[in-house]
Amino acid sequence: MKKKLIRIIVAAVLMIILQLINPEGTARFFLYMIPYLVVGYDLLIEAAEGIKEFRPLDENFLMAVATIGAICLALSGNGDYTEAVAVMLFFQVGELFEHYAVHRSRQNISDLMDIRPDFANVETVNGIEKVDPNEVEVGTEIIIKPGEKIPIDGVVVSGQSTLDTIALTGESLPRDVSVGSEVISGCVNISGVLKVRTTKIFGESTASKILDLVENASSRKAKSEEFIRKFAKVYTPIVVAGAVALAIIPSLIFGDFATWLYRALIFLVISCPCALVISIPLTFFAGIGGAGHEGILIKGSNFMETLANVSTVVMDKTGTLTQGVFDVSDVHAENFDAEKLIHLAAHAERFSTHPIGISLREAYADENDDCEVEILEEIAGQGVRAKINGEIVNVGNEKLMDAVGAAWKPCTKAGTIIHVAIGENYVGHVVISDVIKPNAKKSIAEMYDAGIGEVIMLTGDSEKVAAQVAAEIGIKNFRSELLPADKVNEFEKILYSRDADDAKVAFVGDGINDAPVLSRADVGIAMGALGADAAIEAADVVLMDDDPKKISRAVRIAKKCMAIVKENIYLAIGVKVLVLILGAIGFAGMWFAIFADVGVMVLTVMNSIRMLYSI
Ligand code: ADP
Ligand code: MG
Repeated sequence: MKKKLIRIIVAAVLMIILQLINPEGTARFFLYMIPYLVVGYDLLIEAAEGIKEFRPLDENFLMAVATIGAICLALSGNGDYTEAVAVMLFFQVGELFEHYAVHRSRQNISDLMDIRPDFANVETVNGIEKVDPNEVEVGTEIIIKPGEKIPIDGVVVSGQSTLDTIALTGESLPRDVSVGSEVISGCVNISGVLKVRTTKIFGESTASKILDLVENASSRKAKSEEFIRKFAKVYTPIVVAGAVALAIIPSLIFGDFATWLYRALIFLVISCPCALVISIPLTFFAGIGGAGHEGILIKGSNFMETLANVSTVVMDKTGTLTQGVFDVSDVHAENFDAEKLIHLAAHAERFSTHPIGISLREAYADENDDCEVEILEEIAGQGVRAKINGEIVNVGNEKLMDAVGAAWKPCTKAGTIIHVAIGENYVGHVVISDVIKPNAKKSIAEMYDAGIGEVIMLTGDSEKVAAQVAAEIGIKNFRSELLPADKVNEFEKILYSRDADDAKVAFVGDGINDAPVLSRADVGIAMGALGADAAIEAADVVLMDDDPKKISRAVRIAKKCMAIVKENIYLAIGVKVLVLILGAIGFAGMWFAIFADVGVMVLTVMNSIRMLYSI
């Protein structure tokens, strides 16, 4: 690229000198050919190769024909070779700029997503060695010093420190870790030295999965990208056909072949659809990169487009609007020991990954005692059944109690009620309550601000809890007591009841027990995905942390991205059509055409890059 810059400068200087000495006759032709070839030889070679390989209608060919045509006209007429050289020169300036802009923005995106680890410190006989993370096997102990990135997911075996997740989530959230904590690659170790035993290979670790995702996102094309591709495919041949017609037909009628040929050449100069072909994918790329920097992973340009058109957001409650961390607020035992009730509930939830299960397990300090626990089943939307010291214990909501025939008692306390029955013998319930996320209310308001028409909450929890949460955060529309299958049905009802096809419906969940709805949605958004691989897989858009305000943020980013795409399409096509018309009727020369072409390209690319900086 430096070479190209030098060639451009040399050619420009030569041309200025030629303008000054203004040579005459044959010498003039040969002298002008020097800057022409200096700046354009590679393009001419590529054009020739294009013809040889039967794909003649590329921009190299068009520029070659246009400039050679202009030289021929000059040879037979006024001897003004400046135009051909200048067109070639500007075209190459445009190419240089394009290369620079695209390269820079790719570079910027990688810098933004500053999570790629370069090495892992492994202890060997020769002391600590820096090793390529790809070569570290599962179970290796690696050392992470303060200031270094965690290269591979693992568990801390010694040391304690604070980690910063900023590169993954876009927000600086220090997290304390000590022996036994799981650590995720891409976080930066801030304070102490950590020894970590890896639990995954590098390729399966969070950082490399996220990078893969962002880098491959552009392979899923948006409709507007497809449109441009198709447009470029038909546009170029049409313009070339137009050029041929323009050169031949009017000159048969009016004569003056040279003038019409010149106008046809202008057609060719303006016929490169470069501005669009470059700037539209660049806009999506920059948009996806910029969003990734904020901890919002958009898995493809198509989802960017859908996200911009979302009119209804359907949200899960637990873990999405609430923290999903339940406190036990009451224990009501029925002729049973309260402590024992909690004990049984905790045991039954031993392997549950459900927020309720985790919370109940944590509510009982001595969960790992020597009771014999066998988990029979975990019924989504109902609860769990386990065998504890030979007795069947059922822990869950009313639906589960009804299913096992236990005579459950209602509770007047506010909160989620988890009943416990030994066999069909009801022994009482635990009242647990979740905390609404601090940003939830504001986030809902921001969603409406961002142009979302309606927010609906779906939950498997009771009507009472649902109504309370909805009222508190400003959601008018909610459906409660839904089993996972009901959630899909309810979601489909919402999906079918929308009025326009381009009003899209998003679903936001934690990606753990709502994968079916996530995949049913026009765009499925998973929250709090840091460390949850399943959620990253299931969703179309992944919010790395669990802050609901990222939802409106994602929508705003998508809207801005699509606005830039549209601006670029209108600008580029508008200017081209204008110059084509002006050229055909003789108001625009070749100079003007190349200025318009390169100018539009520069403008659209700069507009695209806006996506990176000022979101
Ligand atoms: P949400 O829609 O709030 O995410 P879920 O569909 O995950 O809720 O669960 C709905 C209800 O099912 C819970 O409110 C709870 O009553 C019951 N439930 C689900 N899993 C469990 C479990 N592991 N232990 C006890 N109860 C459970
Ligand atoms: Mg849930």
